[in-house]
Amino acid sequence: MYQFCIFMSKIILIENHRLLKRVWILGCCILILSGCKEEIEIPEPLESYIFLYTSKVDAQAVNCGYTYYEEAGDRIKKHLRNSVPNLSKKELIELGNYFKNNYVVSPITEHTRSPWAIEIIERMKPFLIESGYSHTLFTLEDHSFSAFTVPGGNIFITTGLLDQINEIDELAYIIGHELGHNENNHTTELARLYKYVENKSNEGGILNYATTSITQLGSKICGKPDELECDLASMYLLHKAGYDPEIAMGGVELLKMYSEPKPEEDWRAALMAFFKSHPWSEDRDICIREYIQEAKFSAVCEHIYSNKKGFIATKQSPLELREFPIKRAKSIYKIPKGAKVQIVCDCIEQEYRINEEWLYVLYKTKDKKYYGWVDKKFIKPD
Ligand SMILES: [Zn+2]
Repeated sequence: MYQFCIFMSKIILIENHRLLKRVWILGCCILILSGCKEEIEIPEPLESYIFLYTSKVDAQAVNCGYTYYEEAGDRIKKHLRNSVPNLSKKELIELGNYFKNNYVVSPITEHTRSPWAIEIIERMKPFLIESGYSHTLFTLEDHSFSAFTVPGGNIFITTGLLDQINEIDELAYIIGHELGHNENNHTTELARLYKYVENKSNEGGILNYATTSITQLGSKICGKPDELECDLASMYLLHKAGYDPEIAMGGVELLKMYSEPKPEEDWRAALMAFFKSHPWSEDRDICIREYIQEAKFSAVCEHIYSNKKGFIATKQSPLELREFPIKRAKSIYKIPKGAKVQIVCDCIEQEYRINEEWLYVLYKTKDKKYYGWVDKKFIKPD
């Protein structure tokens, strides 16, 4: 381009045409400022949300929803894990069918009558970590506002709930939440509990123990932290599936409408919470909103550098170039020690339990360019 500019300038100078000369000089200036210069590569627009977790969530590491009370549930789960051997997927699916045939009292429509529900589940499936489950959806002819899942991952939704849904994103929250129970093995824990009680009754003599209501214990092992895990898993899944987390909050609003309101007095709320298996919907609402906000911040670049800065990878082992500024994010490329990377932008400091700072960088191999995030600790100025 420079050669072309110079060539044209020479011709015009020779011809000595004043107007043409002025137009050309102006044009050249514009070209030099734009086209003649190498284009600055601004990265592709990033995700609008980068969630701390995928569909697997650790409630103990999240800011809200975990108390000493919940540790009782953890102890029960640990005991069950030690007492009941691992259950195969086939066993889980069989048990789920048994629950469906023996415990579900409302009439069931085999195929959900909501085309939205079918679309949602299909769009979420590629992002599930646990594989091998069909996640069949069933509609229950029931006026209550309810949805639940069973071991093996099949999902039941009442007509009462479907009737209240205004936006597909709201239903995506409900379905994502139910999938979250399977993704985080809550349904497996429930199956273990069932097997445990069944074994104890077969042993005989401990019938009193066996008759302890499964729902009583079930509420301990499928309690508040588990519900929270599913809410957060749902946000990841619905975002990945192309739905809007903020519109999906309408689903949480509906939940609030149909559940017991949280008492205004703290002491009363705390006392009642002790006997509740689910968190207060008001608390869930706050928790999920914060989680979405954090994900929004994580997706933002603080400074975009037009002149990319040269840095060198310093990590002993290869430096992971990650998809998102999160330690557990997928690795896109392993950058060898001493290789040059170019900083494209700074990510804002992560406040959500991770304090590393991340940089969005460009790494060029002989024939390919890779954009991704690296931990700032492992690179130094060239
Ligand atoms: Zn739930």
